[in-house]
Amino acid sequence: MKVALLSESPADEAALRIVAEGVLGRPVEVVQPPLRARGWPSVAQVLPVILRHLHFRTDADGLVVAADSDDTVVHTAEHERPGYFHPRCRLCELRAIVRQTLKNLPSAQGRARLHTAVGLAVPAVEAWYLCGRDDAVTEAAWLDGQTTGAPPYTRRELKHRVYGTMHPSLPFEVQRATEEMARHRGDFRRLEFDFPGGFGALAADLRRWRVGRA
Ligand SMILES: [Zn+2]
Repeated sequence: MKVALLSESPADEAALRIVAEGVLGRPVEVVQPPLRARGWPSVAQVLPVILRHLHFRTDADGLVVAADSDDTVVHTAEHERPGYFHPRCRLCELRAIVRQTLKNLPSAQGRARLHTAVGLAVPAVEAWYLCGRDDAVTEAAWLDGQTTGAPPYTRRELKHRVYGTMHPSLPFEVQRATEEMARHRGDFRRLEFDFPGGFGALAADLRRWRVGRA
């Protein structure tokens, strides 16, 4: 399957590729988008251009996009209600951009529409990398911290736990992202359980691609 990946860094994209291959259950050939994003809000800013480019100019089957929540609102089950949109939730925002951009596009490249999958790492992708290694790192723990004003950990701490330094080189980031995500290859249930809003939504989107292909 031909898939484009868009996230805040090439290391995140290496992890997203493993997720896409695992959930889709088939190898993924990566389609390079014409632009790359570095951090937020860059992901949201380049997303419409990338969607149109992939739709009209490539034979990509779909796009996987994810961002870090940082200190914004966590995507929860409440946001999944029909017609609901939380203006401070990045996942809701990315979904709205996808919907708006693809809404009236004519079919192209022999397909009706591009598949999309949207994820949100809470509070940062390093939390996903620690899943199964550190039981204290979960969406629920982070949500609790937002409610009480006492965060259970900082993004710096998560980074340090994953890389052993605050300033990893890009190749080392890619290596760590790949190693940690590969632990879940074949079974992402723990990630879906510990990160239901941001990772669960991403996996659910990817599963719909399989249905669409049948
Ligand atoms: Zn949301």
